[in-house]
Amino acid sequence: MFTIQSFCFNPFQENTYLLYNENKEAIIIDPGMYNAYEQKEFSDFISSNQLTPQFLLNTHCHIDHVLGNKYCMEKYNLPLQIHKDDLPTLQNANVAATIYSIPYDKSPEPSIFLTENDSITLGLDILSILYTPGHSSGSISFYCEDQNFIISGDVLFEQSIGRTDLPGGDFQTLINSIKTQLMPFPDITQVHSGHGNVTSIGNERQFNPYLT
Ligand SMILES: [Zn+2]
Repeated sequence: MFTIQSFCFNPFQENTYLLYNENKEAIIIDPGMYNAYEQKEFSDFISSNQLTPQFLLNTHCHIDHVLGNKYCMEKYNLPLQIHKDDLPTLQNANVAATIYSIPYDKSPEPSIFLTENDSITLGLDILSILYTPGHSSGSISFYCEDQNFIISGDVLFEQSIGRTDLPGGDFQTLINSIKTQLMPFPDITQVHSGHGNVTSIGNERQFNPYLT
């Protein structure tokens, strides 16, 4: 069974997720730590809980979600896994870092590409990959059926949705992704977003102004 630990990192207040199981194996999703203080907060949590990260995944590659890619790849000796359609986003992240004047240790390139037919298996637990473009070209979400939760990246937020004005973004594509890939799940499904609070599919079905 997954335990979900979140960290709020960097000036964009991005949610970094660490999923771990009873065997102390872990999955890192969207590492956003960008300075020594945040790197230490993250690595201290891992060492004090004696965790061994096994996977490093990006929901998408906007700068706030990849600031800690290089740190985690080197510290935990992990390959990076993303959807191939977000490779251009990753390759342009340094441009965004310059625009926002934020220090960025350039992320190495991924060595594994994920598609919607893949899943990530950690011990007995499975994360299915959902292809949810629209916020960026290659945005993906991770769904755990057994525990009814989604890691949605910047696709769906509490009473909001991701912005679509950045390169690769498209409003109608995003709405379509949410309606076809996320909203069919049961109301109790918890949604862990890339920014802000945890919400649920039921809450968003009822209150999200973009989905009514
Ligand atoms: Zn984003």
